[in-house]
Amino acid sequence: MSAPTRIAVIGVGHLGQHHARLLAGLENVQLAGIVDLNASRAQEIAAKYGARTFAKTSDLVGHVDAVTIATPTVTHIDIAMPFIEAGVAVLIEKPLAAGLEEADRLLEAATRRGTIVATGHTERFNPAVAAALPLVTSPRFVEIHRLGTFPERSLDIDVIFDLMIHDLDLLLTVAGSDVVAIDAVGVNVLTPRVDIANARIRFASGCIANVTASRISRDRVRKARFFSHDAYVSIDYAAQEVEVYRLIPQEGGRPAIQGGRLEVVNEEPLRRELADFADAVRSGRPPGVTGHDGRAALALATRIADLIARQPQ
Ligand code: NAD
Repeated sequence: MSAPTRIAVIGVGHLGQHHARLLAGLENVQLAGIVDLNASRAQEIAAKYGARTFAKTSDLVGHVDAVTIATPTVTHIDIAMPFIEAGVAVLIEKPLAAGLEEADRLLEAATRRGTIVATGHTERFNPAVAAALPLVTSPRFVEIHRLGTFPERSLDIDVIFDLMIHDLDLLLTVAGSDVVAIDAVGVNVLTPRVDIANARIRFASGCIANVTASRISRDRVRKARFFSHDAYVSIDYAAQEVEVYRLIPQEGGRPAIQGGRLEVVNEEPLRRELADFADAVRSGRPPGVTGHDGRAALALATRIADLIARQPQ
């Protein structure tokens, strides 16, 4: 048996604690360290999942094969860069970086050093998404809603970079063509940043996507619907449910609509994402969501945010 892949978690707040929990339970993986600016938090999570703490991120080099970074977005580049330069694989939570220039610096270093960079677009590992996306062929119209209650976290970034970016990543994955036009509107309600945003995105294929994200809703809704000429696919991300309906040609009459709910085996998307990352580190293959994917989603999010910023308030 080969030695387990040693992976440390940097930042064990709301999300990073789950990185630690899930990595500790993965086969062929050793949760090799925890680092957090908040030392007592680092101790608490390390004790819970049987790992050791390190005082500084630089102390990890030599003790790990890879790290996951679940710290606030503005810190991603400074934390990730020394690992990339040292050839240590990194999984960086979404959004990849605070801006495109930073993302490009990370990716340039990764290419130069041959280091694996994965981006934490967890929704791509949602079993419902994995089951549904192969059935979405040539979509003509896409409608996505991602509405959440006020988080008290990630308020350093617009909702576009916090929530909508998950759906932008999915759209880029299924659309298979370039974005040719965007119309967008955003409103700041409880923070100085955009709390609700809507974007209408037209792709060169003719497909139009209408994407809405909010972090000040009363209810939580996370749904995507894809309409093609001959099929309709809907995904409920939270319930991990997929429905598919198809047109069945009928001789001499109107086509019939047949379909229903697809069988989906529920599993934590983050667990699948971390297992994919660990496997990529072991085998040297690219991860399921690469740094370049993270950069593409960030670029589209930035275009939308820039359009909104130019609007009269
Ligand atoms: P959080 O504020 O709850 O946790 C961040 C943690 O990082 C804190 O414990 C903090 O002490 C620590 N930290 C801050 N700066 C640090 C540094 N320089 N070195 C070491 N530790 C440091 O934030 P969160 O909600 O967990 O979000 C963290 C990241 O995860 C963000 O990039 C966010 O966008 C992303 N996120 C992704 C998803 C997803 O679905 N993939 C969900 C939530 C958050």
